[in-house]
Amino acid sequence: MEKLAIKGGYPVRNSKIFYGRQWIDEDDIQAAAEVLRSDFITCGPKVDEFEQELAGYTGARFAVAVSNGTAALHCACMAAGIGPGDEVITTPLTFAASANCALYCGARPVFADIDPHTYNIDPESIRACITPKTKAVVAVDFTGQAVKHREIREICEQYHLVFIEDAAHAIATRYDGKPIGSLADMTCFSFHPVKTITGGEGGAITTNSEEYYKKLMLVRTHGITHDQADMEGAPHEGPWYYEQVMLGYNYRLTDFQAALIASQMKKLDRFAARRKEIVKAYDEAFSKIPELIVQKEISQSDTCRHLYIIRLDLGKLACTRREFFDAMSAENVQCQIHYVPVYWFPYYQHLGYQRGLCPQAEEVYKGIMSIPLYPKMTDQDVKDVIHAVKRVIKYYQKEQERRQNDV
Ligand SMILES: *Cc1c(COP(=O)(O)O)cnc(C)c1O
Repeated sequence: MEKLAIKGGYPVRNSKIFYGRQWIDEDDIQAAAEVLRSDFITCGPKVDEFEQELAGYTGARFAVAVSNGTAALHCACMAAGIGPGDEVITTPLTFAASANCALYCGARPVFADIDPHTYNIDPESIRACITPKTKAVVAVDFTGQAVKHREIREICEQYHLVFIEDAAHAIATRYDGKPIGSLADMTCFSFHPVKTITGGEGGAITTNSEEYYKKLMLVRTHGITHDQADMEGAPHEGPWYYEQVMLGYNYRLTDFQAALIASQMKKLDRFAARRKEIVKAYDEAFSKIPELIVQKEISQSDTCRHLYIIRLDLGKLACTRREFFDAMSAENVQCQIHYVPVYWFPYYQHLGYQRGLCPQAEEVYKGIMSIPLYPKMTDQDVKDVIHAVKRVIKYYQKEQERRQNDV
């Protein structure tokens, strides 16, 4: 048996590989630099162009670019009219922002449990969480896999809820052949560097509703309008005149970030294809390993995976997840855990959320680990990661299984 690096052996590779990273080329840098040399550097023509590109790509009628994915979620909740006393249903297996957006509006996040096979929010659990106070569902396309749109749409129509999709992981994914971004009432994207395409920071909301679109535009810029039609009948003071008609924020995206993201969008299909190739190689390698559980996909989702998660079947391994994680680090494969259930955080505990609330999510959390997945990975990188996983599994395999299965 190969000796683990953590036990004094040689690591599978000499340089560290991380779970995700951006891919920025000279043409991307050029696109941003051109804007910096121009007259407009914030929220000008490049933001408009980028919004049109994104609307075109997703098939949505409207796109609104904002400063980051968290701002996108906050804007969507504001546009949905969420406020104090309301409840917003979301998943616990997500980045905190998916739930924080409800708190920003004075509403209460309610956590529905996940499907233990796909790790996405379970529509039946959404149904069980509905009360007269429920106003919206924030459904997260976890790892990039589309949520069950048809079922969630049905629930939202039945109970008059706003369907907000947190697609921070899911740009370039399709559901039933249709691109993510065109399906929910509002879909939120993030362009953080670990995401599929990046602007350093950046976010956007897509929608088919003109009403939401107008509200999103207001929330993005202080609630200020320059459009005479949106003003409250004030006399026309002069060309300088504008009105603040609601309380909004400064969530503008800069023009140089918009140019960078637009440049990255040209590569999106190529990035997505490479991600799919890597996912296929991982699935093939890991589905044969009895100690690993591979994430299941619904047939409707044609997924551009943002994260690749292996789930350890800890009953079959003579190690803890922590030991597995540390052993992988020593092999120079730096994994990450996505995510600690949101309501486990002290802030949520202080709000009164109890551990045990979502048993499936908590059980899945115990064994999951994200391994490197990004389009710039070479075939050798992919082989190294597979090699490291197999090596660590083999070392910690319980005796009985070790004899039966030659990994
Ligand atoms: C990254 C992420 C966000 C927040 O996006 P930022 O651009 O970092 O603000 C929200 N939800 C999920 C699921 C994310 O992964």
